[in-house]
Amino acid sequence: MKCFVHENEDAVGICKHCSKAVCKKCAIPNELNFLVCSEICKQEATLYQAMMEKSKMAYGLKPGRLPTTIIVYLLIGVVFFLFGCITSIFGADWIYGVLPMIFGVVFILAGAMSIYNQRKSGIRV
Ligand SMILES: [Zn+2]
Ligand SMILES: [Zn+2]
Repeated sequence: MKCFVHENEDAVGICKHCSKAVCKKCAIPNELNFLVCSEICKQEATLYQAMMEKSKMAYGLKPGRLPTTIIVYLLIGVVFFLFGCITSIFGADWIYGVLPMIFGVVFILAGAMSIYNQRKSGIRV
């Protein structure tokens, strides 16, 4: 593969932006470790890189905190569930034993579903 400007020069790589073969003389040095053939391509490629980084963050690929609402759901679920467990141990009626446990499970499931939907859609609440 030869440089697109210098027919006798071997290309060292391909411009990240316009995909032209670039030789050592034509390659523009830059801080992001990719080959570009011109200043314009360097600017375009840098812009593109920045956009990629931004969209990565927008789609939640970087680790982030869980929204407070989901944490509240999970906490309420755990509290209800534990309450149901404890009252059951002490021989309480099903109204005070099984019912709170079911409430707890429903809340925990609701929280888990929210986390799942959030991961799937990639939208931060
Ligand atoms: Zn280029
Ligand atoms: Zn060249």
